Amino acid sequence: MKIAIATNNPNKLREIRAILGGFFDEALSLSDLGIDIDIEETGTTLTENALIKARTIRDLTGLPALADDSGLMVDALGGAPGVYSARYAGEEHDDKKNNALLLKNLEGKPRDAKFCSVIALCYPDGRELTAEGSVRGVILKEERGTGGFGYDPLFFSPELGKTFAEATPEQKNSVSHRSRALRAMLELLSSGR
Ligand code: IMP
Repeated sequence: MKIAIATNNPNKLREIRAILGGFFDEALSLSDLGIDIDIEETGTTLTENALIKARTIRDLTGLPALADDSGLMVDALGGAPGVYSARYAGEEHDDKKNNALLLKNLEGKPRDAKFCSVIALCYPDGRELTAEGSVRGVILKEERGTGGFGYDPLFFSPELGKTFAEATPEQKNSVSHRSRALRAMLELLSSGR
């Protein structure tokens, strides 16, 4: 069976193919499928947004479609930036502005946080599966490391003893929210769901 993956991000594709490749003959990216689309993420939860993306691509392709949605949730900020992680700094957002705003908003506050990811898999017959993964960490007072993306330079993982931006991709994937959600999805599929 072929599956459509609702992303063109090469890192996500590699991780998804590595973990779920055994279940599907071929995992096709949006560019593999000739789809150029900007799906509006109008949900208020990671699960809603992952489902919106997976349903859209399923409907466009007629294939089972998988999508993920992730975010950083900071305890002292009531779970923000959460579902709005990518656009935390507003219209003109980028990683640098998002990180600067996070540091400003966390001044004098406890710095415990978690990355969360939801994977949704939607089949043409209407079946829908979702799986979640998370990883806890601490937001540092300044950026460390040059790898990864997004909030990685500020996210210190006690499990790794370094920030996600200082970790190799393999080290990050060994503990990351997305790989945990993918492994939870693999368990659902393996149990015959
Ligand atoms: P996405 O849904 O995986 O594209 O993630 C949405 C936003 O959450 C990204 O733009 C980042 O700001 C943040 N984010 C999600 N996963 C990660 C990660 O692994 N490292 C750093 N930031 C992340």
